[in-house]
Amino acid sequence: TRPRIVVAGSLNMDLVVSTDRMPRIGETITGRHIDYIPGGKGANQAVGCARLGADTSLIGVVGTDAFGAQIVQALEREGVGLPHVERTADAPTGTATIVRTPEDNCIIVVPGANAHCSPEQMDRARALLGQADALLVQLEIPAAAVAAAVEAAASQGVRVIVNPAPARRLPAELLRRIDVLTPNETELETLTGEPVEQLSSAGLARVLAAWEAEYGHRVIVTQGRHGCSFLDAGRLVNVPAPQAEAVDTTGAGDAFNAALALALCEGRAFADAAAFAVTAASLSVTRFGAQAGMPTRAEVEAAVGRNDFEHEQGEGR
Ligand code: ATP
Repeated sequence: TRPRIVVAGSLNMDLVVSTDRMPRIGETITGRHIDYIPGGKGANQAVGCARLGADTSLIGVVGTDAFGAQIVQALEREGVGLPHVERTADAPTGTATIVRTPEDNCIIVVPGANAHCSPEQMDRARALLGQADALLVQLEIPAAAVAAAVEAAASQGVRVIVNPAPARRLPAELLRRIDVLTPNETELETLTGEPVEQLSSAGLARVLAAWEAEYGHRVIVTQGRHGCSFLDAGRLVNVPAPQAEAVDTTGAGDAFNAALALALCEGRAFADAAAFAVTAASLSVTRFGAQAGMPTRAEVEAAVGRNDFEHEQGEGR
């Protein structure tokens, strides 16, 4: 049977404007083109889970506008369950406007309808959450909705995975209810107040051990092209990322979280699940678009096989 994963989170339309240079303050320039790309960490991670073969449902809110309809259609095509994606007339669908030049980008996120995701909505989804093998949630919806989703899942014995992105401090009561936390290094800095990127391995191990002892869950830190690290019986383990020709790293974290959730639901050991997740994420960086770049299960399995082979030959790392 396929693992059942419920994702609670954001749905956005990303408006990607490509220009040769950034406008100055007060200036009007002509851009080269604009792409409309469905995004939002919640929707991206749901697509990631569905492509990997999970029975996936999403809880979130879009507007009654055209963007909302387009996003819902894209998710339907991916086979994501949408009975708990609600539509509100009180706000536009969330957007991320990204101005991209060959050198740089600037991003403005307007949460819009995502800000209407509420604890009451999580109550309405309580039965769905109770049947899940895992809840996967990020922080692009209001804190009260995150807390309610975590509580609804945890109180029904469902595994809770929190991807604390974008970085935000979290209340201790919530942290004590979760099973796995998946920050990147910057998010771990915000959560712990420690200068994570400057720490030695021993320093990172100490920070993670103190955190896990305090909150009673496991932490897996993503480190970009360096893969990810976690504690195993008090020892810091690094799972290196397979080498990848990075074309577009947006959505790497989303692919990682989707794959980790799926692998944990399948009962794989933590180290195994981490290896599956870094492989899925490394495939996603080789393609444009967060949702479009999510790999399928067959692709990840083929790549895991290749990496094992390279590892045995001592190459490619
Ligand atoms: P993003 O916000 O860009 O989606 P993130 O900051 O949440 O990503 P990262 O730690 O940057 O998360 O990346 C997540 C995972 O993606 C890493 O653990 C790694 O497996 C993979 N990854 C990211 N960048 C690369 C890269 N250049 N080459 C190979 N794998 C990568």
